[in-house]
Amino acid sequence: MFIGPPGSGKTMLASRIPTVLPPLEFDEALEVTKIYSVAGLLNGESLKVWRPFRSPHHTISHPGLVGGGAYPRPGEVSLAHRGVLFLDELPEFKKHVLEVLRQPLEDGQVTISRAAMSLTYPADVMLVAAMNPCPCGYLGDNKHACACSAHQVGQYRSRISGPLLDRIDLHVEVPAVAYQDLRQSGKGADSASMRSRILAARVVQARRYAGLPVRTNADLSGKLLDEHCAPGAQGQEFLGRAVNSLGLSARAYTRILRIARTIADLEGAEHIGVPQLAEAVNYRTMDRNSL
Ligand SMILES: [Zn+2]
Repeated sequence: MFIGPPGSGKTMLASRIPTVLPPLEFDEALEVTKIYSVAGLLNGESLKVWRPFRSPHHTISHPGLVGGGAYPRPGEVSLAHRGVLFLDELPEFKKHVLEVLRQPLEDGQVTISRAAMSLTYPADVMLVAAMNPCPCGYLGDNKHACACSAHQVGQYRSRISGPLLDRIDLHVEVPAVAYQDLRQSGKGADSASMRSRILAARVVQARRYAGLPVRTNADLSGKLLDEHCAPGAQGQEFLGRAVNSLGLSARAYTRILRIARTIADLEGAEHIGVPQLAEAVNYRTMDRNSL
């Protein structure tokens, strides 16, 4: 979830995500190709080799997003399978449309039931969303004054339900950056080096989860989560304090463990410690309500 004023580059950042993800495995490419074939969107390609990036407008209907019709066609959530589903201006989406996303996000697939038939399409996506910090967009901006009341800000934020927010791992504030600063900084990682770090972390995970029904840290739950995301005694104490002071949900707690595992993997660290946990907690901005 990117939170920032208009023009801060949220959409540009989101659209670049597929370029730092590992390439599609052959079986994944087949899955994606099948979905586009069913939807009649293959456009003459024989095999989809790039991770999809789908960016439906906030006026999209429920069937448009999850699929539907007399002979159910895949919706955007399936067209984004193995890739990125980007929802820009998240609070502008109709509430009931966002609610229907919860199940596919949980299960990685979507079932469309009709009187005559019931069809299941894959829908394993990375959900990326963007929103302004407030209705006018300029809360916290040092160049523009925000025209919203605290009540308006609260109402705007509450349009996104807690359960949906819980399912989004990383909440990242994206401040407005002056073009000049952007040109001059030259710091930060480029896509190629980012991609190679991500690939290396994926190799670590593939080794760790060999023979298990788990591909990445995001798939961990139950016993496997306990086993591979053990925070250690100090980490446990840190987490206890964070949960109490921030009022984190059980779901958010689980996410923090998985995120910390991924941060450790990106750093080449074998164990999760307080630094990784602290960084992971930092990505729960919306839980902290500290914007
Ligand atoms: Zn405002």
